[in-house]
Amino acid sequence: MKLSVERIQEKTQTLHAEEPVASFPVLSGMQAEGECVFTGPVTYDINAAREYDHLRVTGRVSVPLTLTCSRCLADYATAVDSSFTIMYRRGTPEEVAAEEETELTEQDLISVTYSGDEIDLSHEIEEQVAMEVPLKPLCSENCKGLCPTCGVDHNQGTCDCSLTPVNFKFSALKDFKVNK
Ligand SMILES: [Zn+2]
Ligand SMILES: [Zn+2]
Repeated sequence: MKLSVERIQEKTQTLHAEEPVASFPVLSGMQAEGECVFTGPVTYDINAAREYDHLRVTGRVSVPLTLTCSRCLADYATAVDSSFTIMYRRGTPEEVAAEEETELTEQDLISVTYSGDEIDLSHEIEEQVAMEVPLKPLCSENCKGLCPTCGVDHNQGTCDCSLTPVNFKFSALKDFKVNK
């Protein structure tokens, strides 16, 4: 996913595109590691404009995926949908870092450097998606999870295990008395 710097300098560029997850190494890697399963292409809308001495790229990226709930272990379908703003400055990261120290940095703004006539957005796009994939996915905020004793999914039904500790204490007490 590359944009011509010259064309952005002349005129604001807008772009809507769809690309398979296979063209994004970070996302393919996450899928290979079993963190999630992407169930459709990565879709994005980009707006790239010249602003003073830099290029401002705003956009939105979305991709459908299946995650495994960290509490009940059920797979569930969801989607990542993220908006971002990236500022591209020409130069090396070192030069730009030195300049930036004296400037106020906008919140949530990603600052990246570029060189040459093109900027490649692919890495920033996939980083946006990767950041939004939860480390501990939950099928729902209220997921009750699995019973640690019998493994019953408490979203589906109940079990008697919660009574066991009470019974256990009671019987232990009985045994204690008998032994005495
Ligand atoms: Zn769950
Ligand atoms: Zn149980």
